[in-house]
Amino acid sequence: ICPEVQEEIDEFMASFQELDLHYKIVSKTGEGTFSSVYKAIDLQYNSYVNEWDLDERTAEYYSPRSKRHRLNQAKEKRVKYVAIKKIYVTSSPQRIHNELELLKDLTGSKNVVSLITAFRHLDQVIAVMPYFRHVDFREYFRKLSIIEIQRYMRSLFTALKFVHAKNILHRDIKPTNFLYDCAKGRGVLVDFGLAEREEYDGVCPCTRARGPPPKPVAPVGGYPKNDQRPSKRANRAGTRGFRAPEVLFKCNRQTTKIDIWSAGVILLTFLSKRFPFFNSPDDIDAIIEMATVFGRAKMRACAALHGAVFETAIPTISEKGHSLSRIVEWATSRSKNDPLSLEEKRALVFLEKTLDLDHRKRLSAAEALEDPFLTNIGA
Ligand code: ADP
Ligand code: MG
Repeated sequence: ICPEVQEEIDEFMASFQELDLHYKIVSKTGEGTFSSVYKAIDLQYNSYVNEWDLDERTAEYYSPRSKRHRLNQAKEKRVKYVAIKKIYVTSSPQRIHNELELLKDLTGSKNVVSLITAFRHLDQVIAVMPYFRHVDFREYFRKLSIIEIQRYMRSLFTALKFVHAKNILHRDIKPTNFLYDCAKGRGVLVDFGLAEREEYDGVCPCTRARGPPPKPVAPVGGYPKNDQRPSKRANRAGTRGFRAPEVLFKCNRQTTKIDIWSAGVILLTFLSKRFPFFNSPDDIDAIIEMATVFGRAKMRACAALHGAVFETAIPTISEKGHSLSRIVEWATSRSKNDPLSLEEKRALVFLEKTLDLDHRKRLSAAEALEDPFLTNIGA
């Protein structure tokens, strides 16, 4: 551990009453937008662990006996690692409560993180979860074979099926929130900080509440000025590059299908070997980025679904757009001598079904798991 991180850990432990009776932090494992996460040993899991001094790197116990003996002892006593998520005190109490509440409801899937316990001391709240070993996405996303990609996606969709069956939307599906262990072929979905319960009655109110889509008022070649139409508001929480079109078009009743879109973006990242694939920080630019791939016709239809209008004067955006196969060919600089393999083509057929601009036609997680791409792994 570098001195600055050690200092941060010491300060945290000193500030949080009696936390050191329960846990011994061994390293910092991650930092997100809303938290810092530490890897720690659960001292209560084996109360006698306290009696030994712990080697921080391997969690073997110091003892005068042989190394093998110590190793066996450590195995028998199964040191349990936990992840301690220190939620930044600037997060609203509602937000923290929501995350803990949803985590509590999500117990029971090996692909979804569970909550062991949570503590509060003054304004600081921490969530304690099992620790999952994982590899940084950037280290492996270009290297995975199609079979490994299938395993990854099956793991992710299994997590989503479980979450969606409880009518919960994750809202922030992206590689840093899906901790994947390449060696084991197992992934765990984490970070329910933006998750929410689905309130979907089967009717998208975008068109219902607003009547027919407004007539375009945009003059060719610019944003509309003095636009009299009422502005539209919707939850757009999530991460740039992973937002579904209905989020960008400010749909008021977003469904679990927004997570399927984001999972599709991860698959597109694998196949195109480009990360991040979409990258616009701003929603309008993100719509343009999407239009560059999918074309004007589909974007217009998608906008209309959500009571919006899509118009652009950008000449490089074609009417019909491009197939995802073409996009992947371009991204990976394929030539006639190096065409897409049969496996890649199969993956692309599946990809098209997860990146459907129309959320109603987009696969659900349960349907995705029935798809040949995820049932015949390696076939
Ligand atoms: P944030 O809401 O701040 O994004 P996350 O819950 O996504 O917080 O955690 C941030 C990072 O911490 C993750 O990307 C991951 O690297 C690490 N992390 C989170 N939970 C665990 C866990 N249970 N086991 C191991 N590492 C974790
Ligand atoms: Mg996160």
